[in-house]
Amino acid sequence: MGKLIDGKAFANRLCETLAEEVASLKSEKQLTPCIAVVLVGEDPASATYVGAKVKRCEQLGIDSRSHHLDVTTSEEELLSLIDSLNNDPAVHGILVQLPVPKQINSEAVINAISPDKDVDGFHISNVGAMAVGQNNMVPCTPLGSMMLLEDELGDLSGLNAVVVGRSNIVGKPMATLLLQKSCTVTVAHSRTKDLPAVCRGADILVAAVGIPHFVKADWIKEGATVIDVGINRIQDPETGKNRLVGDVDFDAAKDVAGAITPVPGGVGPMTIACLMYNTVAAAKKLSGIA
Ligand code: NAD
Repeated sequence: MGKLIDGKAFANRLCETLAEEVASLKSEKQLTPCIAVVLVGEDPASATYVGAKVKRCEQLGIDSRSHHLDVTTSEEELLSLIDSLNNDPAVHGILVQLPVPKQINSEAVINAISPDKDVDGFHISNVGAMAVGQNNMVPCTPLGSMMLLEDELGDLSGLNAVVVGRSNIVGKPMATLLLQKSCTVTVAHSRTKDLPAVCRGADILVAAVGIPHFVKADWIKEGATVIDVGINRIQDPETGKNRLVGDVDFDAAKDVAGAITPVPGGVGPMTIACLMYNTVAAAKKLSGIA
């Protein structure tokens, strides 16, 4: 069996370091990092994610301000809230939990956030900065996945990396970061021909598809490092209870992969830890602290 990449333990260590940094920012610089978290509507998964983020902030000594808006909120109202948060010097990070209800254009919302407060890293200018290697705010899930990969493998230079999925929040930024580390990167997606063969060429295989158990064990090269980004809720056929599974057929894949992230306990905790990382970085940058 391949090695389990313990994202939960890594995230806990990262958060301990961040908590120490927050404590010294408070005592030495009178700076308390603060994130505003905006949730529109009642989507239960979104509410769970927001709750987990707020809880992590509390553990680290980061201030969080929750704005829970009604599902009928107009785009204009949300943009007006973002404007006031952009102009509030006590707020260093702004996160609008996606998806937003359909009367609101998510691109307009993302691009209204000040790029230096864009702790999700989705603003078009942060995406462009990353594309030319001038990383500012890097999206949390790919950032956390890269931390796990570099911890596991060290130098990634020259490795064949296949990213399955081309979303703006995971697949594309993941490919950009792997390219920055001199991997030979292939981005596969729903139109890719002979996906199993493409995956078999991967030293690093990143699955960000959103389909439970999509990547099969015989798509994985012996010894490859597998990062499973997927978070899918399925009903367990035996217990009837809901549980979380990834995009990789983990039980079979773990015997082929050299190292693999589990779901839960892999990439998920890293996403929240990296949100904390970005918030501390934003607070320091906005306050002129190197
Ligand atoms: P998305 O739906 O925006 O994108 C899915 C991508 O998968 C698309 O680019 C599509 O081309 C590709 N795809 C779909 N069907 C395919 C097929 N049959 N063959 C090959 N490619 C196919 O999803 P997303 O937002 O990128 O999220 C992907 C998964 O990651 C989801 O399970 C999501 O819940 C999870 N996720 C996890 C975290 C985390 O913190 N771990 C964060 C974000 C997303």
